[in-house]
Amino acid sequence: MAVTVRFAPSPTGRIHAGNIRTALINWMFAHAKGGQLILRLDDTDAKRSTAAFTRGIEEDLTWLGIGWAKEVHQSDRFALYDSAVEKLKASGRLYPAYETPEELELKRKRQLARGRPPVYDRAALQLSTEERARLEAAGRKPHWRFLLEQRDVVWDDLVRGQQHVDAASLSDPVLVREDGTYLYTLPSVVDDIDLGITHVIRGEDHVANTAPQIQLFLALAAEPPAFGHHNLLVLADGQALSKRDRALSIEGLRKEGIEALAVASYAATTGTSDPVVPHESLEELAQSFDFGKLSRAPARFDPHELRLLNAKLLHMLPFSAVAMRLSAMGIGGGEAFWNAVRSNLAVLADAAIWWRVVNGPLEPVITDASICKQAVVLLPPEPWDEQTWERLAADVKQVTGAKGKALFQPLRLALTAREHGPELKHLLPLIGKARATARLQGKAA
Ligand code: GLU
Repeated sequence: MAVTVRFAPSPTGRIHAGNIRTALINWMFAHAKGGQLILRLDDTDAKRSTAAFTRGIEEDLTWLGIGWAKEVHQSDRFALYDSAVEKLKASGRLYPAYETPEELELKRKRQLARGRPPVYDRAALQLSTEERARLEAAGRKPHWRFLLEQRDVVWDDLVRGQQHVDAASLSDPVLVREDGTYLYTLPSVVDDIDLGITHVIRGEDHVANTAPQIQLFLALAAEPPAFGHHNLLVLADGQALSKRDRALSIEGLRKEGIEALAVASYAATTGTSDPVVPHESLEELAQSFDFGKLSRAPARFDPHELRLLNAKLLHMLPFSAVAMRLSAMGIGGGEAFWNAVRSNLAVLADAAIWWRVVNGPLEPVITDASICKQAVVLLPPEPWDEQTWERLAADVKQVTGAKGKALFQPLRLALTAREHGPELKHLLPLIGKARATARLQGKAA
């Protein structure tokens, strides 16, 4: 059967690198298997889901280069969920329960006080027809619980290996709230069946949902898919990334100037046995991906490490990978400019600083007028190449007797107005004789 996976975010906020880790692992797996990825928007919660967040998710995935074969919105699919509910009611697997949250809490406390696990006691199953009628007449509306089969559920997790869960240790999960709205569990399974999902790959925070969901697949007469639960991205304090942290959302990182491939390389390789290094394409990432490489411990998300990775990526990107974006920023200079400056960039936008240095206008900083004056006289005629700077420096040294920092620093400050930067042997030919002359004379150029 062709591999079909899904990425199923809730559009209740902007997605972050942790969500992208899930999306990427799904994408890489599908890519490696020649399968397809479905984007499923889990938007049954009408109060918290918005069309703007859905667009944000589409935009973020597109920016990262993660494509999807099909997109479905759970809010369009209630008829499917309703019919699954009817089936489960008819087979006796879905039963009404009337306890209020306070009553449930009380039960829980009592069980804990007696040293028992706080598992729902199924009292609702004991209600007679009259008792139910009485509760409903008093205005109580039922929520609906899925009757678990009390047996061992076993699956071979793609990441965690053999998993056993004794369903008797679990409460029958509520599938439908008293106001008729759905919790995540049932729509997810109904969609996984309807869309022919072969592998459910998601974060470890969903491990606890898997045993009830496997039983739900079976109760709906479907073969459960394979499951894989990857480790989550956590911050230095051990907290998982949250949609509330806007600065660390994909949108926030993009605005900060972090490259899509840096985000993807980081999200896919942190917390694996592979080194966290920049990759030049998602295909390249997919080639080295293997579930066996995922660590069982949480994966660190360190914004500082991501920024360093971003710089490393820029330093190795060929001109062809950035040519269009540089030209959109009004930056010329071609490949020679890119090769001269790329190792000085933290974000691509920094290229504008060096373009200004090369192309002007720039207010030079004169700290030693006599060295600069000598340099003007010694500037050779154009065309200039990578040897020009060394010859010029040697000539100025000979005439003035200055050497080392005393020689180079005044020239660099006059030519670039900065103490540090790309090598002058690369910059000087790009600056050219007219601008270099003016700057060495202390004129803006
Ligand atoms: N909407 C769920 C989430 O964002 C999807 C979980 C799943 O993949 O089954 O966590």
